[in-house]
Amino acid sequence: MSVLVYVETWEGKLKKASYEAASYGARLASRLGTDAYAIVLNASDDASVLGKYGIKKTFSVKGEHFQHFHNYKYVEAIAHVAEQIQAKALVLSGTFTGKMVAPLLAVKINAALITNVVSDPQEVTPLTVKRSAFSNKGFVYYESQSEVNILSILPNALGVSESTGQGEVEEIVHTPETNIEIQIVEIDKVKGKVPLPEAEIVVSAGRGLKSPDNWGMIEELAEALGASTACSKPVSDMHWRPHSEHVGQTGITINPQLYIAIGISGAIQHLAGVSGSKTIVVINSDPEAPFFKAADYGVVGDAFKVVPALTEAIRKFKAQ
Ligand SMILES: Cc1cc2nc3c(=O)[nH]c(=O)nc-3n(C[C@H](O)[C@H](O)[C@H](O)COP(=O)(O)OP(=O)(O)OC[C@H]3O[C@@H](n4cnc5c(N)ncnc54)[C@H](O)[C@@H]3O)c2cc1C
Repeated sequence: MSVLVYVETWEGKLKKASYEAASYGARLASRLGTDAYAIVLNASDDASVLGKYGIKKTFSVKGEHFQHFHNYKYVEAIAHVAEQIQAKALVLSGTFTGKMVAPLLAVKINAALITNVVSDPQEVTPLTVKRSAFSNKGFVYYESQSEVNILSILPNALGVSESTGQGEVEEIVHTPETNIEIQIVEIDKVKGKVPLPEAEIVVSAGRGLKSPDNWGMIEELAEALGASTACSKPVSDMHWRPHSEHVGQTGITINPQLYIAIGISGAIQHLAGVSGSKTIVVINSDPEAPFFKAADYGVVGDAFKVVPALTEAIRKFKAQ
């Protein structure tokens, strides 16, 4: 019996969300009285670093089949390793990739799947875990009756537990059996920014900004804070900002340490994607804007005055 963590990569580099999954897997393994292993596909980074997060050994799968993400091939490789080490619990991050892998994997290895996990298990026998539900508006405790379980962690919900140590790495070859081929036609990359699901700080703006020409001050505030930028749905629908920045029920779900919402009313569909933020700051000219009810800090004021003043104050503070 063991725990297996699926560690994601981006262009060969280990992703930050995976350190969180690795830390979770290691803590779970310790409570089960077993070891945590990891599987990584197509990594150029040295996976022995995962030892710092409690991973005993990482199986590094290389080869032409795994150069690009292919959900069926990846699932086959993960299932293969899970079987080899008799994994009873599999842990992965609820990223885009994780969301594509987890259900297929659950079917392949006949496991229970619990998504949106937000805390360490309450119990390990039977496995009982807390997950967020109803678009982050509530929590549910799941008690699994399955022998094998897959836990998908809500990104940024738990953080990493880092110590010293180096894990082993074993390179393995796996030849997938699937004959489903996926052709990648185009890769549209967002350059120079932390992807929204992994961002610690997010500066977001809505229709209150009136025009796409006014986004300079949002970019400047984000730069001063080292933040990623996001927007409400109408803003991306009107092509003021790219769809990759749309957060909410029908967009990306984020869980940053700090979310600054500027000129966004706080509709329930928007809140569904951002209410997992640890601290919410709302800047809105309307004191009755619903977003203030969900805010930790609120500024009632004109964004065109408040945002430049805030950026200036942050720059001065950082320069000190
Ligand atoms: C099925 C469905 C799914 C949806 N999914 C999403 C989703 O995923 N994400 C999402 O965001 N929305 C979603 N929506 C839309 C959602 O209901 C709201 O319409 C939307 O979030 C409103 O966007 P907004 O806050 O930018 O604009 P508005 O509601 O127009 O709000 C603009 C805000 O700016 C403020 N403002 C105006 N001028 C200033 C100023 N000078 N300074 C400061 N503040 C100012 C106003 O007071 C107002 O509160 C969805 C809707 C449906 C029906």
